Amino acid sequence: MSKVAIVTGGTRGIGYAISKRLKEEGMDVAAIYGGNTEAANKAADELGIKVYQCDVSSFEACEETIGRIESELGGTSVLVNNAGITRDGAFHKMTKEQWSVVISTNLDSAFNMTRPVINGMRDRGYGRIINISSINGQKGQFGQCNYSAAKAGILGFTRALAQECARKGITVNAIAPGYIETEMVGAMKKEVLDSIVAGIPVGRLGQPEEVAAAVAFLASDEAGFITGATLSQNGGQYIAA
Ligand code: NDP
Repeated sequence: MSKVAIVTGGTRGIGYAISKRLKEEGMDVAAIYGGNTEAANKAADELGIKVYQCDVSSFEACEETIGRIESELGGTSVLVNNAGITRDGAFHKMTKEQWSVVISTNLDSAFNMTRPVINGMRDRGYGRIINISSINGQKGQFGQCNYSAAKAGILGFTRALAQECARKGITVNAIAPGYIETEMVGAMKKEVLDSIVAGIPVGRLGQPEEVAAAVAFLASDEAGFITGATLSQNGGQYIAA
């Protein structure tokens, strides 16, 4: 029987590549999206996956959506907490709204999505949870106190949950990508992006497919001895900083 994989933000950008790759690995993929129904329908058609609209910042919405996914597809084997947003601004000008929406979408979402699947994984004695953090959660980033805090929080969540689940056949890992070529990065000013690429030793942005390949490995049975880890995937940017 195919494994069921849930990918939040699985209809665009890095998440699209993850959905595609896990589908190619033979999984039944349920991709969750926020509001862009056009992109979601396109992903569903192109990839042959199911898509579900659900605001990952709402616990009730996540509970309800996971209930629907599991009754349609079966219990969740793989959960990829990937959905994320930025609302950048220098901290002395940052509004409470900018802070809260980034924390709830990027960090609360990990609780909201993982809590409803965890008992099923524990009962079945199997699970792969992969949380998408960021290099900016590891090193902090100017203009991103909100995002850096949320992404650092994801790393702590990963390490704590990994310990709680280790005896239950569930691994919990994080990937901390550097700059990956998606719309999120495309929205940056050219001069900012040029200066970022200049600081990446491999001399280029990462590709969504490269993150997807790392997810596929961590989601595989072969990765069962890896838990609580953070895989840095940044072209050497962190060590060069
Ligand atoms: P995109 O902006 O390209 O895609 C974001 C996805 O998340 C979309 O599918 C979007 O849905 C979904 N989403 C956003 N808000 C919500 C919400 N409230 N509820 C449900 N779904 C939501 O992002 P990326 O692919 O660039 O980033 C993916 C992840 O990787 C993020 O967590 C990001 O922080 C992280 N990351 C990205 C890096 C990069 O360089 N791109 C670097 C490091 C980390 P919809 O289409 O409906 O809006």
